[in-house]
Amino acid sequence: MKDRIKRFFLAEQDIPRKWYNIQADMVNKPMPPLNPATHKPLVASDLYPVFAEELCRQELNQTDRWIDIPDEVREMYKYYRPTPLVRAYGLEKALGTPAHIYFKNESVSPMGSHKLNSAIPQAYYCKQEGVTNVTTETGAGQWGASLAYAASLFGLEAAVYQVKISYEQKPYRRSIMQTFGAQVTPSPSMSTRAGKDILTACPNHQGSLGTAISEAIELATTTPNCKYTLGSVLSHVTLHQTVIGLEAEKQMAMAGEYPDVVIACFGGGSNFGGLAFPFMRNNISGERHTRFVAAEPASCPKLTRGEFRYDFGDEAGYTPLLPMFTLGHNFRPANIHAGGLRYHGAGVIVSQLLKDKMMEAVDIEQLESFEAGTLFARAEGIIPAPESCHAIAAAVREALVCKETGQEKVILFNLSGHGLIDMAAYDKYFSGDLVNYSLSPDEIKANLSELPEVD
Ligand SMILES: *Cc1c(COP(=O)(O)O)cnc(C)c1O
Repeated sequence: MKDRIKRFFLAEQDIPRKWYNIQADMVNKPMPPLNPATHKPLVASDLYPVFAEELCRQELNQTDRWIDIPDEVREMYKYYRPTPLVRAYGLEKALGTPAHIYFKNESVSPMGSHKLNSAIPQAYYCKQEGVTNVTTETGAGQWGASLAYAASLFGLEAAVYQVKISYEQKPYRRSIMQTFGAQVTPSPSMSTRAGKDILTACPNHQGSLGTAISEAIELATTTPNCKYTLGSVLSHVTLHQTVIGLEAEKQMAMAGEYPDVVIACFGGGSNFGGLAFPFMRNNISGERHTRFVAAEPASCPKLTRGEFRYDFGDEAGYTPLLPMFTLGHNFRPANIHAGGLRYHGAGVIVSQLLKDKMMEAVDIEQLESFEAGTLFARAEGIIPAPESCHAIAAAVREALVCKETGQEKVILFNLSGHGLIDMAAYDKYFSGDLVNYSLSPDEIKANLSELPEVD
């Protein structure tokens, strides 16, 4: 048998020294976030009360293509980066496809997902600016775990609001956060005004990322020396995640290939943008014609069935108004096990790129996602996170089209995390207890009706 390469490794010195800011290269820049009171475009200093100042500047930076990664952050990236790029020979064989399938394995991070790529710089900038406490929300607990760990690295106290349904579905992620010293509260809680209001109106509220964000922001703005951090959606988060795509670009070159299709699952857009944007810059320059596919859950379909509007990032309406594809900030996603994808909106960069047809989106039903995830686990030996199963399902669809047409396309997807702490979800899948959730057009319209149209 030919001695073929399965995993493509880079050396530590190949960890990127700069993040890629696609905003600098976009032909149509994202529309500005608006101050909800004045409807004036936001400036960085409007965000200073909530986020570390450097992160606010990164958020609105539309001019600098490359942003230096601080040495201290790169030092911590060395604990798990560069991550391997893997040729999915097992999956190709299981599908009988002529396609060449690759995946970037972000599940090897100590917390099991890509989230640490942004948790480390966010904690670092907070520390630099004299902050002592950080707050955040978490769904499945991937972000909360990453922030808890990053906070402990830089000597910060972390308080995490975890979406109640996930707090109950994924008890071990809570234990992980507590291992790193974080204080974890199920959300909605009675500890904030936002939480109290929601529980008074709806005592059985299962929580959502939108609700937990409101609680975390409220705590940050009412506690001295405390900043809020976010695990997705915002442009600075996606900026930090570009280490994924920048490494993958070098690794694809080692493999002597270039992707025809780049795929990632989609919650708010950070792992999608992180993998896709470095490749997309070659589309913007006209050198390449790669397709970029975001895979979202059919039960939370902001990209495929939402609308482009100015909307709040959270349920209570504390955030600026963001120009984004959304299902409405009051949208209550079904209790799917891909907790990290249960969010009503998409980041502003991705929203603009979708509007400009620089990328595509597909929606995946819960059962199709677990079917693909199980197939992948058996073929490649890695149990994927329920979120990542959506990317795998989209990659499987592409590979099966190649099987029909006989095309040897190169497919690259992001394995955003492993599912070893999500086995309760797999148990339910195996025992036939998981269902698909259908959404009627009326349900979608109802939540959007209050939002003004954007022209
Ligand atoms: C949070 C999470 C996601 C979704 O978030 P994005 O910002 O859209 O990447 C996807 N996969 C895993 C494993 C996650 O933890």
